[in-house]
Amino acid sequence: MSRYWSDVVKHLEPYVPGEQPKLANLVKLNTNENPCGPSPRVLQAIHDATSDALRLYPDPNAEQLKAAIGKFHAIDARNVFVGNGSDEVLAHVFLGLLKHAQPLLFPDITYSFYPVYCGLYQVEFETIPLAEDFSIHIDDYLKPNGGIIFPNPNAPTGRLLPIAEIERLLRSNADSVVVVDEAYVDFGGESAIPLIADYPNLLVVQTLSKARSLAGLRVGFAAGHADLIDALERVKNSFNSYPLGRLAIAGATAAFEDREYFERTCRTVIASREKLVGDLNALGFEVLPSAANFIFVRHPQRDAEKSALALRRRGIIVRHFKLPRIDQFLRITIGTDAQCETLVAALKEILSEET
Ligand SMILES: *Cc1c(COP(=O)(O)O)cnc(C)c1O
Repeated sequence: MSRYWSDVVKHLEPYVPGEQPKLANLVKLNTNENPCGPSPRVLQAIHDATSDALRLYPDPNAEQLKAAIGKFHAIDARNVFVGNGSDEVLAHVFLGLLKHAQPLLFPDITYSFYPVYCGLYQVEFETIPLAEDFSIHIDDYLKPNGGIIFPNPNAPTGRLLPIAEIERLLRSNADSVVVVDEAYVDFGGESAIPLIADYPNLLVVQTLSKARSLAGLRVGFAAGHADLIDALERVKNSFNSYPLGRLAIAGATAAFEDREYFERTCRTVIASREKLVGDLNALGFEVLPSAANFIFVRHPQRDAEKSALALRRRGIIVRHFKLPRIDQFLRITIGTDAQCETLVAALKEILSEET
């Protein structure tokens, strides 16, 4: 703290990202990166874009990328907004669409960046408790609000809300924007993007960090009615007119053009998840149903934080949240089959030790 700090900064409680360790050889299952790696066509496109042209500013509207996203999802490019990671897209959403006199609603257990943005942009919010089984109940959100946001599947639980429930919420909540954060939807969920044609209050946010294996490139996007996109463009053009660099635009465009690779790698991760769930069940872990590239697990006899530390001593990192209701859970990213086997062997060893 310094006397030079603004009042806003003095009161911020910044997000703490999952550890990005400098050590090599760690089995890194803590930040939901994709074990498959990006499409070779993405790497080629970035390579091809690495040229003297980098001295020039990129297209401020990233039109090539918006067209590729529009084509992939069968929507008009005018219904697409792109940003430097979906975190940046979400930041603009909070300021441009969710800051109103009534409180923003989101689940008590959810992506921990949401309350951080509320702090930064001074958005009033109210958390809605998940049900006992950690599912979202739409009826709990049917009250006056300035907006609603949740991930689907939810993070860090992995639980999926059926698309029919989202549609019911959109119909009953026509006066404010409903934001569905689909960071993990490609691992077993159904996207709400087709609904944007019917619901002007729906904004869907996706990232290339998870299913497209490009966390290091920093690209995300939103899909919604042109009026919602317009709000985001106004914020973006008041903040940074060139959020996506030339390499990001080239790589992200190629990622949407390689549907076959995308679908195949999603199937690979889903198969690894199902195998890991079976193995952990066999060890006595309780695993929440997951439609994501991570699972949320607890062991009835073992303290989660101690297990996380025991894994860490064996070179395996998973995520533990010291938060009410979930401090006995571990969030484990689906790695390669070899990484999952290493994890299962380590857990077997840890469980065989005295407590
Ligand atoms: C990973 C994640 C994001 C952020 O993705 P980036 O595009 O890497 O910024 C957003 N929302 C949820 C729920 C996530 O898990």
